[in-house]
Amino acid sequence: MHAKRKERFDTKKGILRKTAVGLLLLLLAAALLACGMGYTPPPREAAQTAQPADAPHTPEPAAAPAHVHDYDPATGLCRGCGESCPHEAHDPDTACCLRCGLQRWHAFGADGLCACGREAPLTDTVLPDPYFEPAEHEGRCFQETLTDAAGREHTIAVWLPWDYSEETRYNVVLLIHGDGGSCDDWTDKEEGTSRGPIQVYRVYDRIAEEHLCAPFLVVGLNNRGMGDDPAFGEMLIEDVVLPHLARSYSTWMEGDDHEQLEAAREHIAIGGLSRGSVFTYYIAMQRCLDVSANFCCFSNSYPGGVIRALNAEEALSLDIRCYVAEIGLRDVEEYNQDNRALYSAICSQVERIRDGENARFLEIDEGHNFLMWTAAVYNALLLMF
Ligand SMILES: [Zn+2]
Ligand SMILES: [Zn+2]
Ligand SMILES: [Zn+2]
Repeated sequence: MHAKRKERFDTKKGILRKTAVGLLLLLLAAALLACGMGYTPPPREAAQTAQPADAPHTPEPAAAPAHVHDYDPATGLCRGCGESCPHEAHDPDTACCLRCGLQRWHAFGADGLCACGREAPLTDTVLPDPYFEPAEHEGRCFQETLTDAAGREHTIAVWLPWDYSEETRYNVVLLIHGDGGSCDDWTDKEEGTSRGPIQVYRVYDRIAEEHLCAPFLVVGLNNRGMGDDPAFGEMLIEDVVLPHLARSYSTWMEGDDHEQLEAAREHIAIGGLSRGSVFTYYIAMQRCLDVSANFCCFSNSYPGGVIRALNAEEALSLDIRCYVAEIGLRDVEEYNQDNRALYSAICSQVERIRDGENARFLEIDEGHNFLMWTAAVYNALLLMF
């Protein structure tokens, strides 16, 4: 029994020894492989498709040389595949696209800073002389008479940039005049009027020439009738003027249905000077939020129900893209106090309107006049579009 048991034990010991040696060898092989010293077989693919190096073959799609777009600087389209350049970045001085070279524009936004690093050249004083002189390329000003559903006629004054093209989509800026004015206060005007030699459209011409904001067109509205009935102003803007512009010009509105106007609201702005500013608060910001996301108010305020309207249940989903309020420091002090109070009340009580983000309050060293309003509309255009 003892001898047998010892023998079995010895046999066990032998097996253990052999297993240990085998394990050691395996570990060694693994270590060699890990060190890269093991034999590496040729890639299976190469072995299977063994063929002379110069034989024709079908490369994998990923191996094909990538198509490099060759953009035409006149159109921004690739000469090879016809695709449009995404215009991701532009030069801070010229606003030309860094990839295709096409002329683009700055987009400062309400915070006043373009993605190219350039800051909006806002003004707090009268614009320099060139803004009052004919630009090298002058836009077109003209009037149109529109008829509403009740058969009443409404005149509007239009400014189109000199290079207006159906290939470009234009932001729409509706501007309302003050007491005693008319729709062409915001475009061109015969000399010898209260405005003197100032032609406001020259400011738009310069902005377009200097590529200081995205392409836009301006429409001056008549304010008569708006004070008697805010529903009249709403009808004029939403049922007459915007549908007409949608049908007649290349804007962001795809058609003249109310839904199509709403879809373009980020590209529509409403503003005004003096009484026109009152109507912007009283009518546009209270009743036209569905079709406009940008507002600019110069020289006068009107608290009315504007905060209540902006905070109403049905208005909460309507973002405010940009709200600009501007005053002339040499204007009536009472007006300026009211403007400051209304602006800060709106920014503190309407959660989605934030000073310095999508809202700006600017002060210009001028009075209640067109030297102030030319500077104000210049600032507002740069910040809104
Ligand atoms: Zn291409
Ligand atoms: Zn480009
Ligand atoms: Zn820029």
